[in-house]
Amino acid sequence: MSDLTRLTAAELAARLTDGSITSVEATRAHLDRIAAVDGDVHAFLHVSDHALDVAADVDARRAAGEQLGELAGVPLAIKDVLVTTDMPSTSGSKILEGFMSPYDATVVARARAAGLVPLGKTNMDEFAMGSSTEHSAYGPTRNPWDLDRIPGGSGGGSAAAVAAFEAPIALGSDTGGSIRQPAHVTGTVGVKPTYGGVSRYGSIALASSLDQVGPVSRTVLDSALLHDVIGGHDPHDSTSLAEQWPSFAAAAREGARGDVLRGLKVGVIRELADVGFQPGVSASFRASLAAMEAQGAEIVEISAPHFEYGVAAYYLILPAEASSNLAKFDSVRFGMRLDVPGGTVEDVMSATRDAGFGDEVKRRIILGTYALSAGYYDAYYGSAQKVRTLIQRDFDEAFAQVDVIATPSAPTTAFRLGEQIDDPLQMYLNDVTTIPVNLAGVPGISIPSGLSDDDGLPVGIQFIAPARQDAQLYRVGAALEAILVDGWGGPLLDRAPILGGAR
Ligand code: GLN
Repeated sequence: MSDLTRLTAAELAARLTDGSITSVEATRAHLDRIAAVDGDVHAFLHVSDHALDVAADVDARRAAGEQLGELAGVPLAIKDVLVTTDMPSTSGSKILEGFMSPYDATVVARARAAGLVPLGKTNMDEFAMGSSTEHSAYGPTRNPWDLDRIPGGSGGGSAAAVAAFEAPIALGSDTGGSIRQPAHVTGTVGVKPTYGGVSRYGSIALASSLDQVGPVSRTVLDSALLHDVIGGHDPHDSTSLAEQWPSFAAAAREGARGDVLRGLKVGVIRELADVGFQPGVSASFRASLAAMEAQGAEIVEISAPHFEYGVAAYYLILPAEASSNLAKFDSVRFGMRLDVPGGTVEDVMSATRDAGFGDEVKRRIILGTYALSAGYYDAYYGSAQKVRTLIQRDFDEAFAQVDVIATPSAPTTAFRLGEQIDDPLQMYLNDVTTIPVNLAGVPGISIPSGLSDDDGLPVGIQFIAPARQDAQLYRVGAALEAILVDGWGGPLLDRAPILGGAR
């Protein structure tokens, strides 16, 4: 493996700026790495055939003296939920096989405008439904730490690409944990921004009141740099906040440098003690808290009594919204259409949806249409929305007492492929600590907190901040990251097993 793939996005950016490397060299190194290991990892559904041309163009503009963004020339992987004009966008589904979008998602357009070089589209659970990437219609992605284990989901492709050094940074989407839980199981960083902080325009909708696009990386600073590029108001998204955001990269740099943990009040949720975390996950979480305490943070026990109903409320709200969002895949407007000789339009539609959607998608469409049907709406969807309000109030009360909340990012380390695929309920419970964050619309980050002492696999710690205070997450995340990496004697991913024989 070329050394360039070992550099973070910030390090690549610095070398591109000082002229010691070109974007073509950086891009070629990552394409070579993809060619070497992606047969095993399967992080990508599509690899761009013109990434080197894009990189050459950035190099030429730099040589001509053009002022470029900080990340110009840095390669980027893109979750296949985000539409792109130059590569197919499938959202992991057969029904969209080969679909070419007439426009770019806003986050993709912003990344291109900033000179980032799209490497390809990453694998995901179909329509972002899942926690293991096994629900992809194109086969699972494997965890670079252990190829027999899941990389998390739904954004397992983006997390695995970054963890396997196939890309320095990636874009993901997070509706209930799909950026943070993959980060947890792959030893990477992932951020779910404040709802409305990053445009959803061109992100193939799963549940519109929960979806957020966000960054995936190996360091907190790299996520912050990418967030600075993709964030901010977008007139194409009616839920986009008209907010002036501070520089998240500046916040991350301040956290890594400064004394931001002294006096910081970190809330730990009492009720989560009952979740049944894997012992190694709990131990790693407690060790991270102790490391923060040693730097002057104050750990405060708080109560969030409705947190435990989050998963149940989510699995009414999400299927309800998804059933409505997925109605547009009707065999007429997008993607696949089956031929039904002599059939009516309804016959074509139902045959196409039957063949084009996988089991998990069908399960949720049925659940959602049932929950929304006349006579049941109040009992199911209406009640779930009330629970959502109670969870939002839990957060409001908690944030009156503490600056940030900390939780383990997920209950267990990476499980084995096949282990939960036939047990949807078990699969749903992977998001017990991430889902309430989406329900409340607040921001969350997962950073590596260490290796579990029971199986040697990565564990993440999640920080949650009040809405609009994403910068606080970068500050705190970078501060803890600096302490932990120092203690480990180098990044956690340096300890990942050799992939492709080159590490
Ligand atoms: N695992 C959760 C689900 O299956 C979260 C998905 C997501 O965030 N897109 O719905």
